[in-house]
Amino acid sequence: MAAFHPRNWSLQKRLSLLLAGCFIIITVLSAILVKAYFENEYRSLFLKREQEQIRLVVQRIEQNLETRLRWVEAHADRLADVEGLLPLASIREHLKAAQVGSGFSDLSVMNPEGVVLIDQPVFPGRVGTDYSFRSFISRSLTEKTSVISSLLIGAKTRRPMYVMAAPIFDEREELVGLLVASTDLREEALFKRLGEEMQDQDSRLLVLDPINRLYIASSNPDQVLQPLPEPGAEPLLDRLLDSTSRGTLEDEQGEAWIFVNEYMEPMHWLVVKLASERAVLMPVRNLISQYLLLTLLMLVIMGCLTIYLVHYLLRPVRQAIAQINTAVNQGGGLQPFAIQRQDEIGQLLQAFNALEQMRDRQDRMKEEFISLVSHELRTPLTSIQGSLSLLTSAQLGEPEREEMLSIAERNTGRLLALVNDLLDLASLARGSLRLEMRQQSLKPILDEVLCDFSPQAKAKQIELDLEMAAEDIQVKVDYARLQQVMNNLLSNAVKFSPEGTRVSIQVSTDKDEWVRISVKDEGEGIPLGFQSRVFERFAQADASDRRRHGGTGLGLSITRELVAAMQGRMGFSSLPHQGSCFYLELPRYGLSTTEES
Ligand code: ADP
Repeated sequence: MAAFHPRNWSLQKRLSLLLAGCFIIITVLSAILVKAYFENEYRSLFLKREQEQIRLVVQRIEQNLETRLRWVEAHADRLADVEGLLPLASIREHLKAAQVGSGFSDLSVMNPEGVVLIDQPVFPGRVGTDYSFRSFISRSLTEKTSVISSLLIGAKTRRPMYVMAAPIFDEREELVGLLVASTDLREEALFKRLGEEMQDQDSRLLVLDPINRLYIASSNPDQVLQPLPEPGAEPLLDRLLDSTSRGTLEDEQGEAWIFVNEYMEPMHWLVVKLASERAVLMPVRNLISQYLLLTLLMLVIMGCLTIYLVHYLLRPVRQAIAQINTAVNQGGGLQPFAIQRQDEIGQLLQAFNALEQMRDRQDRMKEEFISLVSHELRTPLTSIQGSLSLLTSAQLGEPEREEMLSIAERNTGRLLALVNDLLDLASLARGSLRLEMRQQSLKPILDEVLCDFSPQAKAKQIELDLEMAAEDIQVKVDYARLQQVMNNLLSNAVKFSPEGTRVSIQVSTDKDEWVRISVKDEGEGIPLGFQSRVFERFAQADASDRRRHGGTGLGLSITRELVAAMQGRMGFSSLPHQGSCFYLELPRYGLSTTEES
């Protein structure tokens, strides 16, 4: 179960899933955005186009009405003279001739009271009928202007038509009659033409008369001049009749329709362009599906490439893991990792190689150290054991017994010194060496060390002296540890100097910052080949040093670490057979009184 936890997934799996997730999210989001943006753009472009078409349709209908009205007015002017209305016979002749090819189905002349005087063609019983009840007739008579009716159903003919009335004036500008011209919509070619012209795949045209509930024109020829369905029968149509200029409506099947409409005076008609949203947006949706398909394909290709890339990038890591596992299981050493790249993984493996080298070095040093320490311990122990065996087993005289005891004592001292050095080394390495740092004058410490060494120096006729740049130089040190450091340096200087030479301690200051204590001798010096190892543990220039001069080779290494622990630094200069100079520098505290005065 734990293997399925994301925490336990391999890096390759995680990276692949992460990248795949990112790709999918980006694709889905971009598809949603692209779809929304293009659909919106396309929809508004379509609506704009539809709006322009509707404008053209309305203009054509209005132009048609205008031309017809001008025709009626022109003919009304010809039906009167100075006397008033022309004689009926000549009006009849005029109407007969005028009607042919005029596009009007019906012409009639009324008297100023709205009663029909004459009609063309003759409709039995119409002459003598009073039409003043028609609002447009009475308006034309009272306002003495030309008027167009809204759509009406003929009182006698029952035909859908619209009527135009133009007043007839005599030459004194007196109203003498009314020329009335009706247009039978069934014979009106314009609406049929409009329906046919606007029949395209995407949208359809409707010219509706909401008052008379009639289709005036339609892209569907079966609907032309047919009554509109009863309210409630076609909800989409009901909503269209109630709607504002443009938008989207849903029919009862839930299909969306985009529409644009315009209201037309004076007929009170509604000109509508209607299109199924699905059909309109089909091209753009097809385009988006193609885009999605292409993106999906790219996604698969990129996914495969990504998995390969992640696999390739992590190959050195997998190889390194296998190499480490083999080394751990078979207990062999670890070969350095082959590094072919300088990226972060290459750098990690490089760091790993360096770490492994350091571990090897430390292992070797540990082994060397153990063997050196064992060796150092064995030499005095063997001497002690030899002396003690001789003392217990052999019949020795007094002088020999004393010599054996002094050998045992000297070697016990060496052992103790060695163990003390080792303990110091261990504390320094752990960082647990406790120092009692105190500000104090340097001179008393150096005087005491010189005093301790004077018997040894005297024995070798070596002259010891101390030169100080100032009397009272203050340093902050651990008293006993600085003595240990100076003891070691002086002991080496005396040890490696021939008889009758000079060993001097010189103290100089560098402004107010440092105090330099140098121990100079005129001894054999340090061979050039050994100089780089002087401070290494157990290092001695000559293997015979141990026998000739005693010592363990630990002194300088401990000395340097002690000086560092007291915030100081150490160095030396030496030329073979010309003596050596070991120095340490310590931070200076306060000013000497002599300097100040
Ligand atoms: P030890 O003196 O116990 O051998 P040190 O660490 O003090 O150990 O010194 C290491 C080695 O450095 C000495 O064995 C010697 O070879 C060399 N050395 C140190 N001081 C001097 C000196 N003043 N003159 C010549 N050689 C020196």
